[in-house]
Amino acid sequence: MASNLSGKCLCGTVSYKIHRPKSRLGACHCTMCRRWSGGVFIGLQVAPDDIEFKGADNLQTFTSSDWAERAFCKTCGANMYYRVTAPGSHQGTYHMGSGTLDAHGDLMLTEELFVDLKPDGYSFAEDTHALNTQQVEAMFADAGADSDGDGDGD
Ligand SMILES: [Zn+2]
Ligand SMILES: [Zn+2]
Repeated sequence: MASNLSGKCLCGTVSYKIHRPKSRLGACHCTMCRRWSGGVFIGLQVAPDDIEFKGADNLQTFTSSDWAERAFCKTCGANMYYRVTAPGSHQGTYHMGSGTLDAHGDLMLTEELFVDLKPDGYSFAEDTHALNTQQVEAMFADAGADSDGDGDGD
């Protein structure tokens, strides 16, 4: 497990500390994450109680779907997190943009979502647990049964 992690936006107005961080990162290739992040969104899943923000007044949230919102710094525009808003076992869970972390420690890319939507021109070298659209949808339909709450349905 990684030790405590911290991060901030580009201008530094918004910063955060993560307690009990997981050591795994997930990349999302869906069209919304690509457009929002300007590239590939790589997130670190964080439980609502495990993160403390400073300068959160400077965050603007955008409701991107019926089940999630995305937040960015009002000053510098840095994309900070994707957060699940839908009721269920994932409600409130943050996916912090890994690019906002001060240091990556031992974080490893272990999961990819919507791999079928990834443009053909690039891919990651890591051997990840990769899910296509159908598999992601099945995972969320099954979210109530996700015993450890890490979103991978196990
Ligand atoms: Zn900022
Ligand atoms: Zn996505």
